[in-house]
Amino acid sequence: MTVEHTVEPWPAGVHPVRGVGDAPSVAGTAGTTNPPGTAGTTNPLGMPGAADLPGTVRAMNLPDTVGVGGHAAQRLLALAAPDLLGHHRRCGPLPWRGPGGPLLREIHDAGLTGRGGAAFPTWQKLAAAAQAACPPGADRPGRRRAGTGGGTGRPRAGGTPVVVANAAEGEPESAKDATLLAAAPHLVLDGVQLAAEAVGAGEAFVYVKAGSAAAVAVRQAVAERRAAGWDRCGIEVREAPATFLAGEASAVVAALDGAAARPRAHWRPLADTGLHGRPTLVHNVETLAHLATIARWGAAWFRSVGTADEPGTLLVTVTGAVAAPGVVEVPYGTPLGDLVGSRGGAVEPVGALRIGGFAGTWLPGGVAPAVPMSREGLASWGATPGPGIVSVLPARACGLAETARIVGYLAAQNAGQCGPCVSGLPQLARSVAGMAGVAGRDTAPDGENPAQAASRSLRLAALVAGRGACHHPDGVARLVHSALRTFAADIRAHAQGHCLGSAHLT
Ligand code: SF4
Repeated sequence: MTVEHTVEPWPAGVHPVRGVGDAPSVAGTAGTTNPPGTAGTTNPLGMPGAADLPGTVRAMNLPDTVGVGGHAAQRLLALAAPDLLGHHRRCGPLPWRGPGGPLLREIHDAGLTGRGGAAFPTWQKLAAAAQAACPPGADRPGRRRAGTGGGTGRPRAGGTPVVVANAAEGEPESAKDATLLAAAPHLVLDGVQLAAEAVGAGEAFVYVKAGSAAAVAVRQAVAERRAAGWDRCGIEVREAPATFLAGEASAVVAALDGAAARPRAHWRPLADTGLHGRPTLVHNVETLAHLATIARWGAAWFRSVGTADEPGTLLVTVTGAVAAPGVVEVPYGTPLGDLVGSRGGAVEPVGALRIGGFAGTWLPGGVAPAVPMSREGLASWGATPGPGIVSVLPARACGLAETARIVGYLAAQNAGQCGPCVSGLPQLARSVAGMAGVAGRDTAPDGENPAQAASRSLRLAALVAGRGACHHPDGVARLVHSALRTFAADIRAHAQGHCLGSAHLT
């Protein structure tokens, strides 16, 4: 089926908005929460009290969504506070909810989905881990499989669940998790504690990119909370290697288990049997921060921005040919033109946008400004927001060469375990490199001209998709398919011996 897309020019003006680099000061939230010592709290740092008992939404004022330029909005970033006292002043005490029901109901009603890329309903992962927390050997009636973390109908391993906050952020272009953790570590740790309490976890981990400022910030924050008695469940900080696949959920569990950070076949969901065979809940750190805001201010507040099907905000790393590359927070459904404008706008004519990172999807620059940043808005382009990355390719750049660079990187990053990765991705990388070459000027790796290399790339991408133990080959295939579609005229030009860049797309 052919999908009609409206072609709109990039906006001449932009909509400047404060990004994360300058956000954490006040951002309009002063005085939006009750001060420390609110009725019901039992100590100056707000340990559980009557107002924080399960099922209650604390009677604090709702924080504003801070926005400039019509669409940009800040919630998580507006709550930035690197130390516990500042966090408490801004957010109030931790709203303990007890195990199971109350928090899950709110997360369900809020419609929160994972912000790590898969967008799985958060409440379902919580419910699966909570249900799996039964004594070893017990056999509960199975539920329908609901993706990673869903029920399987098989006997469950049981045991005390484990919660993991995932900030491995293996996507080379992504900076949103590190930015959030460095700016608001306590908001993320609140989410860890609330999730741990909801599923009855006995321990929790924050898995963060090694050597990053975020790792330093979260270690300090964990120590601060421990000293203040804020945490009921012990939290350990572990560092992740800087590899593309380090943040894949099963690779996270493998690394915490002391093995290499490589994906493993999901023959049983991690919610059934993860770290040390125990039910394991792996959530992206942004998801946990949103969870902490919903626990405080409720589902209706969360749903007051975004779309009906995709409520709330998401953090997006905007990179490439923009005035101020960085992280911005926007409601789902924000047009890509406004989103790029929120980082100062494009600094030169735009050829294409890549949405979702290295394993994402190319969109022609001419249509992109009006396309909403949401799964629904991007679906007709075969794209998703993924882990929240928008990369701007200038019109003078060659999209084929850029694709070849990325596919070469992704092929080298495979975990060397499955056929599609071990032999398929290197072949695909060679074909895409051949497609990026210019006939008569470059030496094609396999002696093919760019048009022949494009046909072979199409065949190879179809062969590797859906065949790996994890989704790594799928992401590479998606990128290649979108490049073949978006840069079709470039391939013809390369075959005729010249390179257009991507200027013809605008
Ligand atoms: S598909 Fe590739 S990355 Fe995924 S487990 Fe297999 S070899 Fe590793």
